[in-house]
Amino acid sequence: MTRFADLHLHTYHSDGTRSPREVVDLARTHGLDIIAISDHDNVAAYFEIKPYADERGITLIPATELSCAYAGVDVHILAYAFDPFDERIDAHLRRFRETRQNRGAAIVDRLKALGYDIDLGRVEQLAAGGALGRPHVARALVEAGHVSSVSEAFDRLLGTGKPGNVDKARFSVEEAMALIHGAGGLLSIAHPSLYPNAERIVPELLDAGIDAVEILHPDVPEDDRERYRNLARFRGRFVTGGSDDHGAAKSVETIGTIRVPEALIEPILERLA
Ligand code: AMP
Ligand code: FE
Ligand code: FE
Ligand code: ZN
Repeated sequence: MTRFADLHLHTYHSDGTRSPREVVDLARTHGLDIIAISDHDNVAAYFEIKPYADERGITLIPATELSCAYAGVDVHILAYAFDPFDERIDAHLRRFRETRQNRGAAIVDRLKALGYDIDLGRVEQLAAGGALGRPHVARALVEAGHVSSVSEAFDRLLGTGKPGNVDKARFSVEEAMALIHGAGGLLSIAHPSLYPNAERIVPELLDAGIDAVEILHPDVPEDDRERYRNLARFRGRFVTGGSDDHGAAKSVETIGTIRVPEALIEPILERLA
């Protein structure tokens, strides 16, 4: 019997609202057998939920989503099946989470100067000790009544080029590859359709050594899926997929909408053995 996977899920260890346990339970409900909790800059969910996932018969893949700087854009790269105990990875992710704290404070200062008063303490509370990001700030803006939704917060204040946005520290692609490949893992270009220069950078990144491209994703339309599938196949690379669910932190909850047949992600499953 074919098993199905969702390799892109967020929890409250980054900018999602669900607990890891809730994610595992929902995955079961949606008939998923293999999941990767790919929190931004954080592997905490893996350690928290591994025994529980085992009990439920869910295969849990160590994962994280890295923000990389490449050709002038913020490219998200998903890392899978690396050694979750690797100390270099832990040190890097810890450092990125720390810089996210400072950047959160800088965003709150900037918003205050613009007349949108929110409490940094509340933002930190929403981040709950995990990787603090703009979605937490967006939720605080909604709670304070400054905007009516998270997407309005991004559109008006927090998105790229908007007045409340402060850049964050990012990996270089080379750094990400050295780190993750060095710990036995594989890398996949997340949601390729979201990059303005995707046509150029997706093949470049595959040629540079990225292992896969995420074609099954709510924001990747069918014709892009076909094109990127071919790009990957031509280069002997593979494809991945996931719902990128953030719980209530986004306007739509997507868990269950993407079901990836296990045969597609065989290279990742082989690494687990
Ligand atoms: P950060 O990591 O702090 O730069 O925040 C980026 C995160 O914000 C992404 O991972 C998404 O989860 C979320 N995000 C980006 N753009 C939007 C948007 N327009 N509406 C809602 N969430 C967004
Ligand atoms: Fe996110
Ligand atoms: Fe992403
Ligand atoms: Zn994501």
